[in-house]
Amino acid sequence: MFFIRRTNSEVPIIKEFYVLGTIIQLKVYGRKAEKAIQEAITRLYEIDDKMSAFKEYSEVSKINKNAGKLHSRVSNDTYFVIKKAVQYSKLSDGAFDPTIRPIVNLWGVNTDNARVPDRDEINNALKLVNYEQVALDDTNSTIKLNYENQCIDVGGIAKGYAADEVKSIFKKNKIRSAIIDLGGNIFAYGSKQDGAKWNIGIQDPFSFCGEYSGIVSVKDKSIVTSGNYERYFMKDGKRFHHIIDPRTGYPSENGVVSATIVSDYSIDGDALSTCAYVMGIDNGVELIESLDGVDAIFITEDKKIHITSGIKDNFKLCNTEFMYGNHVN
Ligand code: AMP
Ligand code: MG
Repeated sequence: MFFIRRTNSEVPIIKEFYVLGTIIQLKVYGRKAEKAIQEAITRLYEIDDKMSAFKEYSEVSKINKNAGKLHSRVSNDTYFVIKKAVQYSKLSDGAFDPTIRPIVNLWGVNTDNARVPDRDEINNALKLVNYEQVALDDTNSTIKLNYENQCIDVGGIAKGYAADEVKSIFKKNKIRSAIIDLGGNIFAYGSKQDGAKWNIGIQDPFSFCGEYSGIVSVKDKSIVTSGNYERYFMKDGKRFHHIIDPRTGYPSENGVVSATIVSDYSIDGDALSTCAYVMGIDNGVELIESLDGVDAIFITEDKKIHITSGIKDNFKLCNTEFMYGNHVN
């Protein structure tokens, strides 16, 4: 019996695996697909080893252990991601904040210890949340958290960086067509095999996984969504999700149930989807409209869809339960 290797460029190679705390699916067309996928897997594990807050030996854990004490030298990868995270914290006036981890730990969403913390616990932990206390030293590639017990969480941005790194590997291997899916953090790489745009479904936040509210058609773009349906627990009929408003220490509640960012780089899309979610419709739309080459699709509690001006020709509502909101330009 022969084992036939796929060399036909019409048939994609699909690999699914678990890393970075999520299910990853790589769907790659082309002769060098297998090789590119293997390189991508190695790179994704490497990024996880450096940035996981759960691995004791990671660089992020080292920074956290040294909080209030020492500067930690880190790799270019970790330095780049944390520096970007702080830049987005400034841009969003603190709606994004990579020092949110003490609060994230209290809520324990997606762990066996998920619970609603007391107001006092939240207020105490909030004292530690402040991106301005992340000391970055470009010359030495060192990072220090200025106060003891401060703690970094790159969960809101690292998957975006990882998607960009997979994209670079595919490019190096001359792949022309692929879908990089990092737990819903998608990079629609190149175009479809026939040169047409990719059609990417935007999850209906009120429905089951895989049901869409609309479709974005793009070539070579990152599409990242932050949503309240991704990670949450229920208590007394109320949903407590994983995107924290750093001003209150509680899951962000401003009417937005999902914020999707379409951008060239996924690191920007990932950080901005979290920013936009927390900032809400008015401030979120204003921020995204102020940035070149970045668009957003917001879905609100009242089943309205708000899109920014650059995406209107490439977005299609595909679910009659939704209507366009005020912010359609
Ligand atoms: P995302 O799914 O990209 O919106 O990121 C959410 C994850 O980022 C959470 O699971 C937390 O680990 C972390 N996070 C939660 N709230 C924030 C915030 N306001 N700023 C930065 N990271 C956050
Ligand atoms: Mg994010």
